Amino acid sequence: MSTGFFFDEYCFWHTTGEHVLMLPVGGWVQGGDGGSHAEAPSTKRRMKSLMDVSGLTAKLDLQSAPAATVDDLLRVHTKGYVDKFMATSKAGGGYIGIDAPCGPGTFEVALQSAGLGIGAVDAVLSGRHDNAYALTRPPGHHCQRDEGMGFCFLANSSIVIEWAKQKHGLGKVAVLDWDVHHGNGTQNIFYDRPDVMTISLHQERCFPIDQGDANERGEGAGEGTNLNIPLLPGGGHAAYMEAFEKLVLPALRRFRPELIIVANGLDANGVDPLARMLLHSDSFREMTRLIKAAADDLCYGRLVLMHEGGYSDAYVPFCGLAVIEELSGHRTEVEDPLVPAITAQQPNAAFDDLQSRLIAEMAEGAGLV
Ligand SMILES: [Zn+2]
Repeated sequence: MSTGFFFDEYCFWHTTGEHVLMLPVGGWVQGGDGGSHAEAPSTKRRMKSLMDVSGLTAKLDLQSAPAATVDDLLRVHTKGYVDKFMATSKAGGGYIGIDAPCGPGTFEVALQSAGLGIGAVDAVLSGRHDNAYALTRPPGHHCQRDEGMGFCFLANSSIVIEWAKQKHGLGKVAVLDWDVHHGNGTQNIFYDRPDVMTISLHQERCFPIDQGDANERGEGAGEGTNLNIPLLPGGGHAAYMEAFEKLVLPALRRFRPELIIVANGLDANGVDPLARMLLHSDSFREMTRLIKAAADDLCYGRLVLMHEGGYSDAYVPFCGLAVIEELSGHRTEVEDPLVPAITAQQPNAAFDDLQSRLIAEMAEGAGLV
């Protein structure tokens, strides 16, 4: 078997301008000391570096892909938004939506990011690889048809899906988004579509704070093809495993996709600065094992992972490495130094009971029991 790894140095060249975490400097937010935006290239660069040094990259088929074209964007985004993004980027940058600061040249970098996703899906659908990973940056899952949002400027996975439908005649596709923040862009874009199932596992009301509830199930012909799984802050490995068993896997078995795309955010880890969940690298490894097995059962193993969030310089590399080890079936000698500390902080039985009850209610609400 083979795993394609789609990567391009250019994706690391997008800059947001000076921020601290996600706050623009100015007013009461101090600037001038080189503070950096959370969505900096360092997390992804360090993940790729650990893959290189551990020998994992050498086991994969490393490649870039052509940048997406404006026509590719227009299958998803409005022309007005694409024009505005292009002009803002050309003029040196600025905000093009809530928490979406672009820098000089971000437009071209975002085209490259979406292009990596297209390359990955093309490789899997044409049979060149069994599965694939795209190290997409900027990320995409918050971006709306007509507005950037949450560090995202182009709806990468949506662009990839519409491309694959046109070029490969792809039918039903499922997007599993385990980024700790709600996959609101992907949800909204496909909300009335029966052929695209969107599943988002996230910390409830973390970002955005007004969407992502379990009762958002799609509308019209898309009724029942959106599944939100909002989890209590502080949840860890057990909550995610139970959500997979009771919700994610039954929903996928019922939908029967021809391709599964994972929006691989690594920010549900126990030390992420932008969320409050408690996963460790073995949690991400296990989620990858489960979704890979589901893809084997349902769609000939056709599985593509696209990188989304994850903001800990120290920990994204270990969590990402675990995902790609499991995806490719090549285990390195790397040991995650944070597993013991995060394991020791997992919630108590009373918390787990409450989360279990809420998951059972969600399964009932979604007609999965
Ligand atoms: Zn996120």
